[in-house]
Amino acid sequence: MPKVFETTLEINLNALKHNFDFLKSKLQNNTLFLAVVKAFAYGSDASVIANYLQKIGVDYFAVAYISEGVELREAGITVPILVLHPQLGNLELAIKHSLEPSLYSLKTLREFKKVAIKCNVFNYPVHIKFNTGLNRLGFEPEEINLALNTLIDASCLKVKSVFSHLAASEDLNEKKFTDTQIERYKSLSEKFINSFDYTIIRHLCNTSGVLNYPEAQFDMVRCGIGLYGYGNSKKESENLIPVASLKSVVSQIISVSIGESVGYNRGHICRVDSKIATIPIGHADGIGRHYGHNAGTVSINQQTAPIVGNVCMDMIMVDVTSINCLEGDEVVLFGSSFSAEGIAEAVDTISYELITGISQRITRKIIK
Ligand SMILES: *Cc1c(COP(=O)(O)O)cnc(C)c1O
Repeated sequence: MPKVFETTLEINLNALKHNFDFLKSKLQNNTLFLAVVKAFAYGSDASVIANYLQKIGVDYFAVAYISEGVELREAGITVPILVLHPQLGNLELAIKHSLEPSLYSLKTLREFKKVAIKCNVFNYPVHIKFNTGLNRLGFEPEEINLALNTLIDASCLKVKSVFSHLAASEDLNEKKFTDTQIERYKSLSEKFINSFDYTIIRHLCNTSGVLNYPEAQFDMVRCGIGLYGYGNSKKESENLIPVASLKSVVSQIISVSIGESVGYNRGHICRVDSKIATIPIGHADGIGRHYGHNAGTVSINQQTAPIVGNVCMDMIMVDVTSINCLEGDEVVLFGSSFSAEGIAEAVDTISYELITGISQRITRKIIK
């Protein structure tokens, strides 16, 4: 791999293909695959990721907001797009771009129905979401008849799918809870689809659901984090390859004598005569202040260097006293051999937060 000359997020499409194939190998033959590409495809590049997945045969996409779906349409995506959390102010925009809303309450259903009538559409695809235990978005199970009654006479709408979301699919200590959630969804969705004379897709599992609860695949699964190369445990991650690698370069190396300080507020005091390297990436790029003070590490020439002192907006300083490195050498913040999971864990967060937080300022480079 050629060296980078500035801070760069490399996006490896071969890794994406590997993860897609691996997750698909866990599915029954006729289970549909929905790829979740919200939040810039988990901090990478939604249009690049979605176009590649479209080419290799993904069945569905999901984004969080309507604006994210519009961007995908403008980038040439023709596969159906589910909008998980549409906002009521711009529902017409969803229809204009053939984006399929998740309707998760009587209010959202009624609002969308109104807009659909106004736009003169017929059989417009919508997705009905139930809350089965996450207690975030969704119709309550007791509201099923309300939902059905509102849908039954609405020729402007057609229910494409009925779905729910697991609360603890990654946590095997919560297996009992999850089994109950699966049962609840099963009976609820059965009653729901039996009220229609056409086929409705059922889906419940995210990545960890696919890996831990193969019996709960229903007709479709919704994978996000697994596609990008992370599971929710070491075991899950074993067969996946991180798609994004965050790399930078050593800008400058200076010698700092014992007792002297490094960075703002003298955040680090050198206990020995030290070599300190400055790297052009900071909290404005998604490397938060909690990575400072030796909590986070970077990899330079396959050696680990701690981030010392306070993280600045555009820079971090790392201690390279015991490392062979020169100005211009490549620095890996995370990647396939230096996983985001481990670094995130060191500061008490999860890979999701680290990878989705990488700012748009950083150059993306596609690797095939
Ligand atoms: C984000 C999201 C997913 C994807 O979950 P992963 O754990 O990243 O696979 C699936 N379903 C819903 C409703 C989501 O919001």
